[in-house]
Amino acid sequence: MQRVVIVGSGDGGTFTANLLASELRDEIHGGLASVQLVGEHLHHPFQPGNLDIAFKGASPDKYVKEETELLRKDVEFIQDPAVKIDFKAKSVSTKSGRTLTYDFLVIATGAVPDPSKVPGLAQGALNFHTGGKDSQRIWESLQTFDGGTVIVAIAGTPHKCPPSPNEAAFMLDEFFQKRGIRDKVKIKFLTPYPRPYPAEKISKVVEPMFQEKGIEVSTFFNVDSVDPAERKIYSLEGEAFHYDLLIAIPPHHGADVIIDSGIGDQEGYVPTDKGMMKVQGQVGVYAIGDATNIPVSKSGVVAHLQSVVVAHNIVAEMQQSSDMLEYNGRINCPMEVGARKAIFVSATYSSPPVDQTPSTIKYFMKRSFAMIYWRALNGSLERMFDLFFGQTRFPVKDKPEPQKQVVEVKAALGEKKVA
Ligand SMILES: Cc1cc2nc3c(=O)[nH]c(=O)nc-3n(C[C@H](O)[C@H](O)[C@H](O)COP(=O)(O)OP(=O)(O)OC[C@H]3O[C@@H](n4cnc5c(N)ncnc54)[C@H](O)[C@@H]3O)c2cc1C
Repeated sequence: MQRVVIVGSGDGGTFTANLLASELRDEIHGGLASVQLVGEHLHHPFQPGNLDIAFKGASPDKYVKEETELLRKDVEFIQDPAVKIDFKAKSVSTKSGRTLTYDFLVIATGAVPDPSKVPGLAQGALNFHTGGKDSQRIWESLQTFDGGTVIVAIAGTPHKCPPSPNEAAFMLDEFFQKRGIRDKVKIKFLTPYPRPYPAEKISKVVEPMFQEKGIEVSTFFNVDSVDPAERKIYSLEGEAFHYDLLIAIPPHHGADVIIDSGIGDQEGYVPTDKGMMKVQGQVGVYAIGDATNIPVSKSGVVAHLQSVVVAHNIVAEMQQSSDMLEYNGRINCPMEVGARKAIFVSATYSSPPVDQTPSTIKYFMKRSFAMIYWRALNGSLERMFDLFFGQTRFPVKDKPEPQKQVVEVKAALGEKKVA
């Protein structure tokens, strides 16, 4: 009996469970394999929908489905948070006291946006990263906002969806234009990076649009604290700005179970091989998506593409095959820029993001993603994704020469600072 346990029923965990259930269908039916998915919540949110909830007034209910609707019937869903992962015992303990043993483990516990990490941030700022309800509070505040300074601040990196702070600024500009009060609102964008978007080529597209729309930018602004009473945000560098409405991207860290089990780095992210997605130093243990420490953007597309690699590699290991795959670092993060246009931040470990022209087609592709997300989780859109994304993985036997790998690692490390 080969037991696979997946911890985390978000984007990557759900998709990996479905892929494995499909690949191992006969083995599961024959009692030779099992796929167990351990999750915290019955409800599964489509997180990119938070932007629409915050800045376009969509209902949070629009972007949530029940996890059980999304899973193949051969996946056993265990709604019972994991409290300990024990690599030595090859087991996962849950809050209710169950112990699940595994032959293969996939860690897909995501990243946790945590406003409490910055003094005053939880009290002084709203955000669209901690969920649909918190995003809705932004929309409610915007309804009664009649003028003044709105600040969008990045209060910690890395965070989910690197383009989302810029997107928020663009969406705010559009919102206030529609309400006819744009001339009464100053929009300010505070970033710890040296330019409006971390990757230079993308910043060259964003910067003139920010200028044209009158979105002011302060670079090298590392948020230190917020004073909600004074309505001021302070940087480590000694700058301070007054705000009337503060929308901040909170610092993120790994899931509590990773921290409590002592299997993460300082930020609680799981040290993971960036190609095969194996957890460093472990056998039969993989990690995907936002939970990993690999230098690539924390995005659903990444979690999805890594899931394909991990499901393949687990089946290969079960069959004692050396036919393993490596993920090539492909990312594709959309950014709405207003006027029904969008750009895509696309790259791999070895090719940094390239220039982009804002386009209406990309805008509609981005918006259609909300509709296809649910179907993408059951694997039925893989052919279409293969066509769209191009190469996203390669067989380990075709591994690039060591010299090329050094270049890739350097590019990836550079991307950690700038992606
Ligand atoms: C505002 C916003 C906009 C975004 N836009 C985009 C976009 O346009 N494109 C894109 O690709 N990505 C986007 N993303 C990012 C994307 O949503 C995430 O990167 C993606 O969901 C990561 O998948 P994951 O499986 O790694 O983590 P998640 O989907 O976050 O899932 C992690 C799961 O682990 C569970 N978990 C945690 N701890 C435990 C535990 N102890 N026991 C059991 N389960 C546990 C959590 O409850 C959660 O269900 C956006 C995110 C936000 C917030």
